[in-house]
Amino acid sequence: MTEEGKPAPTNPNEDTIFGKILRKEIPATVVYEDEDALAFRDVSPQAPTHVIIIPKVFISQLSKAKPEHERVLGHLLLVAQKVAYNEGLDDGFRIVINDGPKGCQSVYHLHVHLIGGRQLKWPPG
Ligand code: 5GP
Repeated sequence: MTEEGKPAPTNPNEDTIFGKILRKEIPATVVYEDEDALAFRDVSPQAPTHVIIIPKVFISQLSKAKPEHERVLGHLLLVAQKVAYNEGLDDGFRIVINDGPKGCQSVYHLHVHLIGGRQLKWPPG
C-alpha cells in the first residue's frame, strides 16, 4: 500500500490503529513492552525484521512533539537498540520516522520503524 501524499488528519487523536494495539483491542505480535513504550511486528514487513516502536503517551507525529517529550523520544531509540540486539541485527539496521504526508506517514501515532535483517539500500525513495 502506498501512503504517498495521503493528507494528515485535521484532528489527530488517540484512536488510531496503534492506539487500539496499545489498548489490546486488536492483536499484534509484541516483541517488547515497558511502562513507556510498546514494540510489535509490522503487519506488512519490508525486511526480515520490521518492528514498530510506539510511545504509550499519545504524540501524533514527530513534528508535533513538545519539549516535555524529550525523555520518551530518547527512550524509543534505546528500545530500538534493545530490540535490534534481541533480533540479532549485529551488522546494522535502520531506524525510520515518517512525518506527515510528504514523509509518507500513514498512522498518526508517532512511531519508529526498526528495519533490518537484509542489506538495505540508500538513498530511500
Ligand atoms: P507509517 O507509514 O505511518 O510510517 O507506518 C505505518 C506502519 O504501520 C506501516 O508500515 C504499516 O504496515 C503498519 N501497520 C498498519 N496497520 C497495522 C496494524 O494493524 N498492525 C500492525 N502490526 N502494523 C500495522
